[in-house]
Amino acid sequence: MRSLLTVICIGLLGGALTLVAQAQDPGQGQDQNPKGVIKGIVIDEVPDYEGADFEQDPKNMEKVMMGGVPAGRWKEGLLFEGISPQPWLKSAANWMPGTEKVQPNEMRITFMGTAPMLRPGQMNTSIYVELGNGNSFIFDMGEGAVTNYLASGIPINKLNDIFLTHLHVDHFGSIPWVYAFGAWAGRWHEPLRITGPSGRTEKDGVAYMVEGMKMMMHWHREAFSVFPTAWEIEVNEFDFADAGGTAYEKDGVKVIHWPASHAKDGASGYRLDWNGLSFCYTGDTRPNTLDIKYCKGVDVMISETQPEVIAISSGVQGVPPFVGRYTMDTHHTPSYAAGWIFNQVQPRIAMTTHMPFDPYINAETVAEVREHWKGPFHFGAPDMVVVNVTKDQIWVRDGVVPDYPNVRAPNSDASVQKYGGLVVPVPPFRREDLQSQFIRDAEIDPKKYYPKGYHPVLMEHWPVDKPLFIPENQIPDSMKSD
Ligand SMILES: [Zn+2]
Ligand SMILES: [Zn+2]
Repeated sequence: MRSLLTVICIGLLGGALTLVAQAQDPGQGQDQNPKGVIKGIVIDEVPDYEGADFEQDPKNMEKVMMGGVPAGRWKEGLLFEGISPQPWLKSAANWMPGTEKVQPNEMRITFMGTAPMLRPGQMNTSIYVELGNGNSFIFDMGEGAVTNYLASGIPINKLNDIFLTHLHVDHFGSIPWVYAFGAWAGRWHEPLRITGPSGRTEKDGVAYMVEGMKMMMHWHREAFSVFPTAWEIEVNEFDFADAGGTAYEKDGVKVIHWPASHAKDGASGYRLDWNGLSFCYTGDTRPNTLDIKYCKGVDVMISETQPEVIAISSGVQGVPPFVGRYTMDTHHTPSYAAGWIFNQVQPRIAMTTHMPFDPYINAETVAEVREHWKGPFHFGAPDMVVVNVTKDQIWVRDGVVPDYPNVRAPNSDASVQKYGGLVVPVPPFRREDLQSQFIRDAEIDPKKYYPKGYHPVLMEHWPVDKPLFIPENQIPDSMKSD
């Protein structure tokens, strides 16, 4: 951080005036202010400025250049130490797809879905965690959340390593789409990996849900099997009761889980640790001592929440008030409790999600969280809240994604790693295998609708019956990692 700011030379007025700005070590290792302290302004030569004098007192110039920021540390308002934008961010206000790489020692967390009810600005819950070692993880994959992943420029076949907190559909509703279209768009050489809790009976676990999904998607899977596809799913079902058990451990990344209290056995909270950085996510739960135990010392704590304004919010949201109250008191974390838990855990930043993002409710949520938690706080809502986390700094921004983005080309990494190039498998079926001849007989002869003189070569059959191999150096750039 200091290296970026050590010397900034600003050429002004044709270079006649040079400002030399230096970051000052604030001392005691508290090197947390990316703005540094501007001092030591050196004027080589004072130019003529329409007959006016220039201010030349270095102290006065410093005051102006600092814009009121106290020297050494950023301590204005209710922002806290260590809450400031990292110097490599292209914009301190917004994240935009494809503009920033996750740095080697950075964790980036994006809220891809943030509410239990669906609306255009809030898909169902999903949290995307990207690490500086190139790994990425998905915590819950609620209905519609896939939209924000695709808008963020992530290839469909890279949507993998999904950890489910529980099997309410608002936490896994996007998986059928990811499964089917990922298979269609290039996830040919690795399984879809889904991790989640068992339940009280076999039917209550994540493996049973996956089997049920496959059954539900029988028609779709077979229909899509006229394309090069692969349908393998790797399910890692852990014992829901194994508090603190390991759900994942690889490449220096460890994910642990613990039981959440969410009306029924088989709901979990998660914590991920990597490279001295960590985040935890309560999933849906009643306020829980295990959240405190396993989130302790975490950098970013994400709690689900509901504020205590059921009578109002249920009316606004179209939920019968007694259903709202009963749902919260049996399933969810009131914002007072979220604040109370944050205060026990003392994360570097506390965040709330799984909440409707509305002005009347946001003010209430903040007031309730603040009853007990006075430290750094930010909403993990609405969709596309982006959190950059490093050892020294945490910064939260709004991600900006287009309304009509196109899906990115599939990524060839898995194939290249396995085979040294892109292998395109043979489709398991032809149309003739799945469709009666009389239906194709009813198709209109293309000569009738293509204009005279225009005869596209139709690809009505997959042209080869062997897999294709495309050497690495001939794979299109769009199919390679950044
Ligand atoms: Zn939920
Ligand atoms: Zn739930």
